[in-house]
Amino acid sequence: MEAQTKQRVTEDLGVFEELACDQNSLSHRLAIQYGVEPETFINWRWQMKHQLRTSEDFQRYCKLDPSELGSFAALKDLFNAGVTPYYAGLINEFPDQQGIRLQAIPRVEEMDDLKGLNDPLEEVAHSPVREVVHVYPDRVAFCVAMLCPVYCRYCYRKRRDDEEGLHFNRSIVDRGIAYIASNPAIKDVLITGGDPFIASDQAIDRLLARISEIPHVEIIRFGTRTPVTLPYRVTANLAKILKKYHPVWVNTHFNCTEELTPEACAAVSNLVDHGIPVGNQSVLLRGVNDSAEKMQDLCRALIRNRVRPYYVFHAHMVAGTAHLRVPISEGIAIMKSLRGNISGYGIPSYILDTPSGKVPIGHNHILGQDGHDLIVEDLRGEIWRETDAMKPMS
Ligand code: SF4
Repeated sequence: MEAQTKQRVTEDLGVFEELACDQNSLSHRLAIQYGVEPETFINWRWQMKHQLRTSEDFQRYCKLDPSELGSFAALKDLFNAGVTPYYAGLINEFPDQQGIRLQAIPRVEEMDDLKGLNDPLEEVAHSPVREVVHVYPDRVAFCVAMLCPVYCRYCYRKRRDDEEGLHFNRSIVDRGIAYIASNPAIKDVLITGGDPFIASDQAIDRLLARISEIPHVEIIRFGTRTPVTLPYRVTANLAKILKKYHPVWVNTHFNCTEELTPEACAAVSNLVDHGIPVGNQSVLLRGVNDSAEKMQDLCRALIRNRVRPYYVFHAHMVAGTAHLRVPISEGIAIMKSLRGNISGYGIPSYILDTPSGKVPIGHNHILGQDGHDLIVEDLRGEIWRETDAMKPMS
């Protein structure tokens, strides 16, 4: 029995075990910093159990500045902190960059945002049954999970932080599946949360089996940040389970290049090597990815690792996030800088998310029409006339 268990664990951890054995690897070095064996450090359940939650937890591993130090008690009832040891370890790994700490550590500025909303996308109003958000006719977001490896400071679902007992809640899942099954127009189910990969392989397998039995569901998608915040969760075994239910797509959420560690890239490879297309949704955040250079570097790093940059969101109007939001005019300039500098595969859409759906925003290259000619601004900023482009077919 013991030999069987050991074999299962070895198979399951695969590439992460190899990384943990390498004394120079990030996983190995972080395990030493946290005072645990590398095999323990790469166990995703250990990571969840040992999330850093208090200023004392953080201060054991990284120095907090005054705005961070005062924030834990002040924000306790608004949005708790919770960060995996792995992700928190990246703060010291990149001491000259703020991207990780701004996303993970609470700040007192979160108290100053008076305009932010609790439910900026009005998801509650768009949920015909609990945890099924139905905005577009052909697809739903099915929120089965409430737990996350890292509670991102800008999360637009932070209002749910104190709700308990919802994670893979059986009756909520049953009612959601019944709703999807009774609506033949639903072709596409996005499983989200929280983070839906924070569950056992068996629970994910069972959920996929039930959804894939619904005849009109054509594709299943996951929204998960685990490749970024808890890569050890994305094992080859999990990818094998997803593969059984193809077409399954995964969207993840890298915001800066520091997050693309060898561990994160190994998690992505586990998915892609099993035929699962991986896309990326970033949020444009002050101090994290708010320059043309940072955004270009991120998009290039993503496509090098076979992740398709899909969306960059203008940060939602969530309470407590004003200090992280970037004006749309700046966002448009950053996104414009990608065109012509990165191959088309690497250019995400810049999106304003609204309660009635996603609105693409971006630089408008169309300057006008002259007769039947279309006048555009080309990528050098010069005027181009496309003759008869607007002429109706005779
Ligand atoms: S992982 Fe996603 S759902 Fe969880 S806190 Fe971050 S943004 Fe919110």
